[in-house]
Amino acid sequence: MIDCGIGPRTAAGRMKGLGIGVGDVSAICLTHLDSDHFNPAWARRIAQQGIALFCHQDRTDELSRLGGGAAEFARLIRPFNAHPFSPVEGVHFTAIRLDHDEHGSHGFRIDGFGARIGYATDLAAQTANSSVNSAAPASWPSKAITIRKCKPTAIGPGF
Ligand SMILES: [Zn+2]
Repeated sequence: MIDCGIGPRTAAGRMKGLGIGVGDVSAICLTHLDSDHFNPAWARRIAQQGIALFCHQDRTDELSRLGGGAAEFARLIRPFNAHPFSPVEGVHFTAIRLDHDEHGSHGFRIDGFGARIGYATDLAAQTANSSVNSAAPASWPSKAITIRKCKPTAIGPGF
């Protein structure tokens, strides 16, 4: 799963009819830690279920704090950097740093099962004077998108 900004109960409701459930989630890859991308309501579920939680290496301390600081939660955090990683067998993620706020965000190039997709969200950078960059639609392609050789199939809402 990419990001977990909605709580596990809401996620369970949205998964109904897809043939999967929250109990099937074995890994979560976080683009960044804004509350609409990481909801601390997941912390207990992550710890109980042993869900591997992938987060950029610069944000793991903050993620541990957001998760309540419990050792059972912190031990599941898997830091990623510029090197590809494999959250589940047969699927390889390459993180791509994107502009967002002072911490940035990450999109992913995802390769697996004979296909490649890109995932990006919150593509416009916030400025110190505005929470929403109204110039985003005109500026984001040249500044933020660095995913190449894949069809954009998932672009999250937000900035
Ligand atoms: Zn954000």
